[in-house]
Amino acid sequence: MKTINVKRTSSKGVVMGKAYVVTRPDLSADHSMIPESAVEAEVSRYEAAIEAAKADLAVLAESNAIFGAHLELVQDPTLYDGVIEKIRDEKKNAELALEETVDMFAAIFAGMDDEYMRERGADMKDVGKRLMCKLKGVEDNALGNIHEKVIVVAKDLAPSDTAVMNLDYVMGFITQEGGVTSHVSIMARNLGLPALVGVEGILDEVSTGDYIAMDAKKGTIIVDPDEETKAEYTVKMEAFIQREKELAEIALLPAETKDGKTVELFANVGNIEDIKNALPHHVDGIGLFRTEFLYMENDHFPTEEEQFAVYKEAAELLEGREVIIRTLDIGGDKELSYFDFGQEDNPFLGYRAIRICLDREDVFKTQLRALLRASAYGNIRIMYPMIISLEELDRANELLETCKSELRAEGKAFNEDIVVGMMIETPASVVLAEELAKKVGFFSIGTNDLTQYTLAVDRGNKKIANMYNSFHPAVLRNIKRTIDAGHAAGIKVGMCGEFASDPRALKILLGFGLDEFSMSAGAVSEVKAELRSSNYAEAKELADKVAKCAYIRDIEALLNE
Ligand code: PEP
Ligand code: MG
Repeated sequence: MKTINVKRTSSKGVVMGKAYVVTRPDLSADHSMIPESAVEAEVSRYEAAIEAAKADLAVLAESNAIFGAHLELVQDPTLYDGVIEKIRDEKKNAELALEETVDMFAAIFAGMDDEYMRERGADMKDVGKRLMCKLKGVEDNALGNIHEKVIVVAKDLAPSDTAVMNLDYVMGFITQEGGVTSHVSIMARNLGLPALVGVEGILDEVSTGDYIAMDAKKGTIIVDPDEETKAEYTVKMEAFIQREKELAEIALLPAETKDGKTVELFANVGNIEDIKNALPHHVDGIGLFRTEFLYMENDHFPTEEEQFAVYKEAAELLEGREVIIRTLDIGGDKELSYFDFGQEDNPFLGYRAIRICLDREDVFKTQLRALLRASAYGNIRIMYPMIISLEELDRANELLETCKSELRAEGKAFNEDIVVGMMIETPASVVLAEELAKKVGFFSIGTNDLTQYTLAVDRGNKKIANMYNSFHPAVLRNIKRTIDAGHAAGIKVGMCGEFASDPRALKILLGFGLDEFSMSAGAVSEVKAELRSSNYAEAKELADKVAKCAYIRDIEALLNE
């Protein structure tokens, strides 16, 4: 038995089960040619790989139909002929022949208009990978291969990884890299899964099949627990379930302090599934719909119709409550398989979010049109990310006006009074908040980025994770300044960064006058419980004191009082 403690945590939940360690072997082919004398041996090697892949797939196909399709594909004569021709005629080794043939077929499929055929391209790539593993004699323990309940352990996970794994089988995540506001961490929270990120050395401690117990809130991982610990964790799991029941009751009560100050408690979501998970928490609205997940789950830029269907459903599910939908915020740590961002030394300071949208007007307008059309079906608000200047805001609004004119001319319905707001997540936007506030309907403070950009501390860098601190006086003053500027202009100010659900921050934010707190749905009831036991007058006093502190330690001291 071995215990690992993690200092910074951001989710909750207690789980026990088998570990599944994700490994990603190098599957690239060697580009050297083979002599004529080696041709037959290469053909045999390829045929053996097919037989081995067939054997695996036959077993997998019993529980999942998709592998039935893969089983057919792996025996497909066109694929076979393509590879063999390259070995025999072009003297390519089996790996290279396979790589080139699969790439060629996958590209043909990907270029087809038909959705079904495009998906076959992805299947072709999967089958290619499986054959390559057999040829190279390596195991690809990738996320798509999970077929039983496990706790996923990985060096790092990208948000797009959730698209390939079967979430019915994933009980929790542990990653070696990443910070608590990295997107994998946020995604785990949205899914309501316990997660621990940035766990140093976890890959040296855990292998696939090891039994582990984990308490996400406390930040404890126990590898190979003894019977006593298992019993203790069983009790903990029951207590957790009991607390969740209590919170479900609190969810039905109003979000107000003891002295009657109410705020809005909203949910952050990444897709329709998240919205459906959020509704039972009785949220007042959606404060951040991260639309990039819609783009990441696809193999092409989603069309206007595809997006319209999703936004319309979101609006309808909320039945008149606000749904703040953020326009595409890609780049940084969020990549698209079908869009080349180019190599960047500092992706978080690079081609990202609104910058891409203003550069790729076609992509941006497609989204704006879909959002406008969906606004006819509910209370949709549009929100721009990463704004640093009035010019950017003006340009985004100009494009929005163009889209409105187009839709009017086409006779397509939309809400003429749609409210448009922006995120405050750069120091530049805080400094310009007074002027920006006059041009938008609301602000939402993105503390995940505002903290990293104010402090110049990468939100995903484990090495400096202890410096990433939203209680830093500079961050808190930026928050206060934004709220004051918003209120001076008569607009609502919300927060959709992770700081909004930090129980230690609640009183300060309340005292600063924050109107809306948006967070992963699973945190809403905890925050509501905290809010209902707070006093607004006291919170204001505390916030006034905090705003005057210049030392981090003085703020810490006030929090600990
Ligand atoms: C933020 O930066 O606080 C935010 C909510 O946006 P994201 O985490 O998606 O960058
Ligand atoms: Mg952000």
